[in-house]
Amino acid sequence: LELQLSRLDRLNLVGQMAASIGHEVRNPMTTVRGFLQLLAKKPALASYNEYFKIMTDELDRANDIITEFLSLANNKLIHLKSTCINDIINTMLPLMKADAAAGNKDIIADLSNIPDLALDEKEIRQLLLNLVRNALEASPAGGVVYIRSFYDATNVSVVLSVTDEGSGIAPEVLKQLGTPFLTTKETGTGLGLPVCYSIADRHQAGIDVTTGARGTTFFVRFKISPAISPAS
Ligand code: ADP
Ligand code: MG
Repeated sequence: LELQLSRLDRLNLVGQMAASIGHEVRNPMTTVRGFLQLLAKKPALASYNEYFKIMTDELDRANDIITEFLSLANNKLIHLKSTCINDIINTMLPLMKADAAAGNKDIIADLSNIPDLALDEKEIRQLLLNLVRNALEASPAGGVVYIRSFYDATNVSVVLSVTDEGSGIAPEVLKQLGTPFLTTKETGTGLGLPVCYSIADRHQAGIDVTTGARGTTFFVRFKISPAISPAS
């Protein structure tokens, strides 16, 4: 019997495992971090400050990975509220721009009039952040990342897109995009996109990608009821 798990099944499996062990692993890590900080304040150990910084940074990184794990849990409670995606983008923009500027890159938002959607704001923030992070990481120095929102009348949907000027996604990576732990980065977790797919699923949204040597665009398509027309 050949057991084939769909991408969704695999995500759910990872999510359930994460939900059950995530918190348990976090508690001892918090204890270790606390004692490390205590030791770091001892004048006698001042010469080890650099090591303490590395240790707490690495603990924080492990903690981030657990956070990403937990957002894959399929039994997550979702809090839907009528929200305009543009508001979410505008709220996050200064923070994302600062992040971009630190790497000598820029982010430009090009937002059009779109109707509100039933969204979990926290989740959409994370979805956007993960896509923008990848876009910035793929960008060359001086590169620009474009965040767009628009109404797609043909498909009666609202589209959120993130475009970069990177060198694209290799075919063998593209084929498996969204698989947990798939990463081409030295310090990548390979959990950013799985989290995006999982959030999109919970919003009945679809994600598709166009990629080539001149850059990549991720499109997140949110279906809206045909009765709702775009705000004028
Ligand atoms: P991570 O960023 O930790 O590697 P992700 O799940 O966010 O994990 O992304 C998985 C992989 O998909 C990345 O390692 C990269 O190879 C590829 N990828 C994602 N977004 C882009 C992009 N905008 N341009 C090029 N490659 C990308
Ligand atoms: Mg990523």
